[in-house]
Amino acid sequence: VWDVAIVGGGPAGMAASVEAARHGLSVIMFEERVALGGQIYKQFGPGFVVKDPSAMGRDYRDGQKLLGAVQESKVMVRTNTSVLSIYADELVVVSGDQKAETIRARRIILAPGAHDRPVVFPGWTLPGVITAGGAQTMVKTQRVVPGERILFAGSGPLALAFPAQLRKYGANVIAALEAGPAPRLNDLFHLAVKAPRNFSVLRDALTYRLALLRFRVPLHYRRIIVRAEGEDRVEMVVHAKADADWHPIPGTEERVAVDTLCIGYGFFPSTELMRLAGCEMEYDENLGGSVVRLDEWMRTTVPNVCAVGDGAGVEGSIVAIAQAQIAAVGIAADLGFIGLDQAESISRPWRDKLRVKRAFAKILQRMHNVGSGVYELDEPDTIVCRCEGVRSRELQDIIESTSDIPVIKGFTRAGMGLCQGRNCQHHVAAMISRHYSIPVAAIPLATARFPVRPVFLRQVADDSVESKKYFVPDAESADD
Ligand SMILES: Cc1cc2nc3c(=O)[nH]c(=O)nc-3n(C[C@H](O)[C@H](O)[C@H](O)COP(=O)(O)OP(=O)(O)OC[C@H]3O[C@@H](n4cnc5c(N)ncnc54)[C@H](O)[C@@H]3O)c2cc1C
Repeated sequence: VWDVAIVGGGPAGMAASVEAARHGLSVIMFEERVALGGQIYKQFGPGFVVKDPSAMGRDYRDGQKLLGAVQESKVMVRTNTSVLSIYADELVVVSGDQKAETIRARRIILAPGAHDRPVVFPGWTLPGVITAGGAQTMVKTQRVVPGERILFAGSGPLALAFPAQLRKYGANVIAALEAGPAPRLNDLFHLAVKAPRNFSVLRDALTYRLALLRFRVPLHYRRIIVRAEGEDRVEMVVHAKADADWHPIPGTEERVAVDTLCIGYGFFPSTELMRLAGCEMEYDENLGGSVVRLDEWMRTTVPNVCAVGDGAGVEGSIVAIAQAQIAAVGIAADLGFIGLDQAESISRPWRDKLRVKRAFAKILQRMHNVGSGVYELDEPDTIVCRCEGVRSRELQDIIESTSDIPVIKGFTRAGMGLCQGRNCQHHVAAMISRHYSIPVAAIPLATARFPVRPVFLRQVADDSVESKKYFVPDAESADD
């Protein structure tokens, strides 16, 4: 039995693992990708060699520092290993195409990060329409630019960062559209005065803005995507002026020819394992909708389970790392490796960091409040659940008779596919909210189900169970 098992090898998972190991706890960490790093510290694909680290930028260097600390620690790292389920003190994990196994730990830290906020609009499933995270992965890990004429549409701080990053890697970004308003001098004054000590974030934002100016990428505020058009892939994009709630204003549409549309309207925390564990959830649209309830040591309402990082609410890497360190020393104290007084004094600077970041984020969120219009772009024929091919009309028909997401899922199969609702569930909730005039926050999500990642049945099947009549455990002839 491990003292701590950590799900996710991003900044949060890595920071938690190093801190827990520092206090003598035995730690195992699972990461489903081939390498540690998560989103911001994503590493290059195999075959790439960095010749000059000093040319790689601050994120790369910070990431290498954290990766080095993990390597120097006694943390057992299991990459290429997905956690499929959680039950009490057990995790069900699967490495590559091997059989699933069960790992037990006295405490579990969930640090699964976030995924792109999907936005459903006519044409969103056309090849060439990609998420900002997907585009970033291509350029960051493979140095591949996703297309030759790229339009970026999104909102929030990353709507500045992504197009600037893409352009830096040589991509031809023809324009960037921000759904929210242009920052006013007053906003910038508030950020600088009411949330001091966030200079580095302001400096990054300014650097990205200047990069867009230097590369002559026009940035249009208050414009939102309306639809993507094309035969076999995206060829044209229609965008329009957005009102304060991000509804497109009729008569303001513009059409532009592209081969790639990159969508970046923010992120959703990956909460499947938290919901599966039975953790209580609450709602905060600006943290990504449904988020897990935490105490001051990042403990969820399930006694042995902590949650940290973007998976516990999208707040960026500095908050993710501070939360992770707090959770780790909290567990060290809980398990008797250090005293509570010691844990409190060690965690003080990290709590201070959280306060500083959150003061800044609060003001920023007011500037980039997610508008409800982003969930109202679909037309009756638009596919909402892309895994199961369920259209808006079919969902609307069933929503006339029920507001219960699990029932809607049962009737239409929306949310039953490979992504398990990560792409469509929030949109379905927004449709229900509109139809019944109830807040999205009051609509419970569908129950999370095992396995949270797609897996071959043979990997989780119990070979000891045999029924000559119905099946034999024969991997060769088994139909996966
Ligand atoms: C797409 C995307 C792009 C971003 N780009 C930037 C940027 O350019 N600049 C910036 O400042 N911030 C960026 N951010 C924000 C920043 O990267 C995050 O705040 C930070 O990485 C959060 O760290 P984390 O450890 O909580 O999550 P992540 O970095 O997302 O790490 C979570 C890890 O958990 C793993 N995981 C998830 N589920 C499982 C499972 N079931 N089993 C095993 N492993 C699992 C994932 O593979 C991932 O590696 C981005 C965020 C996202 C989602």
